[in-house]
Amino acid sequence: MTLKKYQEKRKFSKTPEPKGEVGKSGVGDKIFVIQKHQASHLHYDFRLEIDGVLKSWAVPKGVSKKANEKRLAVMTEDHPLEYANFEGEIPEGEYGAGTVEIADKGKYEMIEATEKSFKFILYGKKFSGEYVLFNFKDKNWFLFKMK
Ligand code: MN
Repeated sequence: MTLKKYQEKRKFSKTPEPKGEVGKSGVGDKIFVIQKHQASHLHYDFRLEIDGVLKSWAVPKGVSKKANEKRLAVMTEDHPLEYANFEGEIPEGEYGAGTVEIADKGKYEMIEATEKSFKFILYGKKFSGEYVLFNFKDKNWFLFKMK
């Protein structure tokens, strides 16, 4: 795992976001976070701790709490684990300029992982239960809650 893409996109002298490094994930202690990102277009970033980084997807319509309501989730660059605590203002002119706010955060449990799909249980305050992410084309995935 590498954070090269994440670090290349940002000037850490200008943005308050963490530079980060690949972390060591504790067994059974994996985290997820959903960040409301008011950038040029409002979206929600969904991130899952996998192999020491936060695998990340931008979800334009946000994560649904309703079963079987599929939401488009576009995979973005891996983020450092400490990004799960980030809230703040990314300055104008910088990558992702706008406001980042944590919508929910908590532990999660991976149930099944393949190259093209993840099945997992979220244990957040607002989002909980079994969810699926599956890759249908290029960087495009669907995210939905199971019944
Ligand atoms: Mn974003």
